[in-house]
Amino acid sequence: MVFKFLDKVKSALSRTTSKFTQKIRALFQNQIDAETIDELEQILYEADLGVLTAGQLTETLQAKFKADPSLTSDQLIQILHDELLKILESTPIPPLVQPPSSEPQVILIVGVNGNGKTTSVAKLAKRFKNEGKKVLVAATDTFRAAGVEQLESWAQRLEVDVVKGLPKSDPAAVAFDAVTAAKARGADVILIDTAGRLQTKTPLMEELAKIKRTCNKVVGGSPHETWLVLDATTGQNAIEQAKTFHQFTPLSGLVLSKLDGSAKGGIAFKITQELKIPLRFIGTGEGVDDLVPFEPQSFVDALFQ
Ligand code: GDP
Repeated sequence: MVFKFLDKVKSALSRTTSKFTQKIRALFQNQIDAETIDELEQILYEADLGVLTAGQLTETLQAKFKADPSLTSDQLIQILHDELLKILESTPIPPLVQPPSSEPQVILIVGVNGNGKTTSVAKLAKRFKNEGKKVLVAATDTFRAAGVEQLESWAQRLEVDVVKGLPKSDPAAVAFDAVTAAKARGADVILIDTAGRLQTKTPLMEELAKIKRTCNKVVGGSPHETWLVLDATTGQNAIEQAKTFHQFTPLSGLVLSKLDGSAKGGIAFKITQELKIPLRFIGTGEGVDDLVPFEPQSFVDALFQ
């Protein structure tokens, strides 16, 4: 399991790893002094770790080196590895909120269009199905026919139930029908795909709030989880998006998609440090199996291999 995770993350991070780790190894190859360690800040910054994190890590290494100038290159890399792990572990990943056994677990998936929401819903549906759960997916973006069709075709391939609304119908009404259907059909999990048009920011947030209220009406306490899908290739923009969504519709988790397309795996650290929202899954490709639960230790190990 861990091995499979490592392989997927390693290959997703291969561009990052080759740049990040090689640069660090090259930097520490020669005689190490305070200036060498200062140069580390730039490498960390370029890997998308952000000014704050890059600065703090460099300071920590600088202090350790000052206390013990005999530290070798390998030892400094190990310190960096451990400090990076501390960052990721500073935001615990709690177990999923579980409904009473007679009710479905309702998971709302939100995010800006193009970030990988629908693909992530399909990947998650497959994961839950593989765990032996009965899954239902709901397509509530009634203003985007292509999005609905995309989810329908995934659902067909995965052989999971799908509920969709009529074009331009009220997304909250679709959510109502879908959660009701999930309950009636004895589904264990319902994944609700939502719209993500940013240009209509306030109405979108209102729409999400209405969907949430509707879920709660059908299954008290739901949605049990609200996850935001972020595109790893968008850097700082991803942080801003998360802040906006979190403000209007509190998030219980993040899915970081397209890590395979990002040359900057550092975004995972920045997200953890700035947002303190559990990073639950990472997307490592376009295929339906390209999703792995986020595990801090394996992630950092993959980065340094
Ligand atoms: P949505 O508009 O948020 O629902 O986004 P989609 O699910 O339609 O995804 C947008 C594009 O991103 C599609 O071409 C997906 O195949 C692609 N995509 C989604 N997740 C990943 C990922 O983890 N890696 C890569 N490389 N592409 C992804």
